Amino acid sequence: MLALRKDGSTFPAEIRGRSMPYQDRTVRVTALRDITDRRNAELRLQRTNTLLHAVIDQAPFAITLCEGSAQDWFLTLANQEAQRITGATEAQQHKIRFIDGELLNPTVRTWEMLHPDGTPIDVRDTPLVRAMVEQRVTRSKEMIIRRTDGVETYVLANASPIYGDDGSHIAGIFTYPDITENKRTEETIRTLSQAMEQSPVSVVITGLDGVIEYTNRGFERSSGYSSEEMCGQHTRLLGSGNTPAEVYKELWSTITSGRSWQGEFQNKRRDGSLFWEYAHISPIFDSQGRIRHYLAVKEDITLRKVQEEKILHQAHFDSLTGLPNLFLALDRLSQIIRTAHREHHQAAVLFLDLDDFKKVNDTLGHEVGDQVIEEAARRVKWAVREEDTVGRLGGDEFIVLLAHLHDKSDAMRVAEKILAAFRTVFRLGDREILLTSSIGISIYPDEGDTAKILLRNADTAMYYSKSIGRNVFNFYTDAMNQDVSRRVELEEQLYTALDNDEFYLHFQPIVNIYSQGIVGAEALLRWNNPRLGQVAPTEFIEIAERTGRIVQIGEYVLRQAVQQARHWHDQHHQTFRVAVNVSPVQFKDGNFLTMVKTILKEYQLPGKFLEIEVTENVLLSEKINSVEILNGLRDLGISLSMDDFGTGYSSLSYLRHYHFDTLKIDRSFVRDITSDPDDRELVVATISMARSLGLKVIAEGVENAEQLAILQAEKCDFAQGYYFSKPITAKALERFFMN
Ligand code: C2E
Ligand code: MG
Ligand code: MG
Repeated sequence: MLALRKDGSTFPAEIRGRSMPYQDRTVRVTALRDITDRRNAELRLQRTNTLLHAVIDQAPFAITLCEGSAQDWFLTLANQEAQRITGATEAQQHKIRFIDGELLNPTVRTWEMLHPDGTPIDVRDTPLVRAMVEQRVTRSKEMIIRRTDGVETYVLANASPIYGDDGSHIAGIFTYPDITENKRTEETIRTLSQAMEQSPVSVVITGLDGVIEYTNRGFERSSGYSSEEMCGQHTRLLGSGNTPAEVYKELWSTITSGRSWQGEFQNKRRDGSLFWEYAHISPIFDSQGRIRHYLAVKEDITLRKVQEEKILHQAHFDSLTGLPNLFLALDRLSQIIRTAHREHHQAAVLFLDLDDFKKVNDTLGHEVGDQVIEEAARRVKWAVREEDTVGRLGGDEFIVLLAHLHDKSDAMRVAEKILAAFRTVFRLGDREILLTSSIGISIYPDEGDTAKILLRNADTAMYYSKSIGRNVFNFYTDAMNQDVSRRVELEEQLYTALDNDEFYLHFQPIVNIYSQGIVGAEALLRWNNPRLGQVAPTEFIEIAERTGRIVQIGEYVLRQAVQQARHWHDQHHQTFRVAVNVSPVQFKDGNFLTMVKTILKEYQLPGKFLEIEVTENVLLSEKINSVEILNGLRDLGISLSMDDFGTGYSSLSYLRHYHFDTLKIDRSFVRDITSDPDDRELVVATISMARSLGLKVIAEGVENAEQLAILQAEKCDFAQGYYFSKPITAKALERFFMN
């Protein structure tokens, strides 16, 4: 109550009344006491209490106070955070009391405690509580508090004992900050760093100065450096010195301005070897947006680079010789033309083709052919200056580009030097062959102002060099074009010649060298075209072979020849053989043998009246199963003749392997037999060798009596040539055996 003073002020007072005996009666004594001090003390306490509660409630972590002993304790306080985590209201909390670990009122239990691995914690056996009570120490433990509604909170529980004045344990204070967020972050960091470690790409984190702070295992794999070795080192250590300074400059200016950069470097591994990396480098910002680190994610692209370079090289260079190919050569030529145009000077294109290379390939095989090409490339390179371009256009064709030409004669000198380079023999294992080349030259700007035209004209000039006897060079002239257009026309006309009945046969008698009586006749194809006139077989057979028309044409020749032989047999009782020339291309056609059989059957001609002439190219081409075909022909009773003997490379050894009946010495040896002792020597050797192998010998191209006399002296068997008769019609030939 409040008491009022005389002056009107009040004070808190306490009235105490007591009845007490006074003389013979009981009186009531009332005392009024001023309790201002006590009331003030009480108010201060209350205030402190409220404040304390407020502080505890506002605490950012859960606080729970348990009073009592280890055996019997009850909850007396739980702050707001504790209520949130446990899901229990203050009223519920106050009903919690554990006696010997048993919850007195289980219905109020709104949470349970779990170990971090998810297994429940038995309160009776809580080391935390026991330790706290028994050992009087503060303990902390990570645990999960799971509410009945399923919400789980990760906490770091701390338990501290509180002792009374007498030293006895009177309470325990539990604080348990919510560390769920930290745990999640920790988990995320762990996952991320594991992902980084296991990532196949290489990851490097550096400080702002480029000093390495972290590298993953991918980095270790590609660079060979361990994380320990690299951390603290500058990324510069990895540089190969081959990456241009501008690349680094651009990289740093990009990332320091807060953007990411991507690009390629060539770096150096720990063992010194070089490797290519594709890098994606980006700044890492802090929460204030300031750059703190740089993150480089890099992929080892060495393999891809190597392949790319290989493909690029393959696209531009010939794999056999390493020389620029047609594509690159044309590109260079265009550049040369541009410069020449600007600087007003000339340039030259030399088109080079090996003479008779096809023969090397066909007779000695592709492997030897490749060796020849490689050697030829070396020779051409040797003959030109370092700055001149030598390219291989494919097959046995090469190109030489001369920039900065002062005069046409410069190109001439180079061509002469190249021809000279081919004058020494090619040594291939134990074999030696002489292989010349033919060259055509076109000059910029006189003979063309584009790469294409210059190349075409040089090619035309090269063809011209071939046609006039090979082993020479020629400058392009407009007249040469006619030559080329004739070839094109020949090819065109040849296509329809058979259907248009433009072919016919001539026959040339083969005679006994002593009696000069006819022993056979060689069928020789003739072509009379309404536009081109009479075309020589030396001109069109090669084209027919190249286009494959020779297969049909050859069949026509055989049919005509067999028909003629049949006629001579029936009408004139002649028993001599008719010889037919067969091209290697016909042998390649799988149907050849069947075709021969069919025709013989068609005309009922015994095989012994037929002779087939082949050159050694037929025998030596890898793609043809010659043995089978030759044996098949032999089984039909057909004689076999080796044509143009002496013009190939390896005639002798092959003659031992295939059984031939006749050998025809090439016209070129017979021609000079009277004047050139070497040629005579060769003819003599051939005859004696043929004899030892049981072969008959025919000398081709006998044109005069002197040649005949020598051949007789050397005991040649047969002869053929203008001296006896040119190739003539079948009808004309009949005069030979009619008189
Ligand atoms: P080959 O098989 O060596 O034929 C002989 C060639 O020499 C013929 O030329 C013939 O006319 C010529 N000749 C014969 N005696 C003399 C002579 O005393 N002096 C000179 N200068 N030449 C003589 P042709 O008819 O021009 O044939 C050339 C080549 O064309 C033949 O050479 C042969 O390889 C080929 N050929 C001709 N007809 C056919 C054919 O039907 N099929 C095939 N695949 N090739 C053929
Ligand atoms: Mg012949
Ligand atoms: Mg011949």
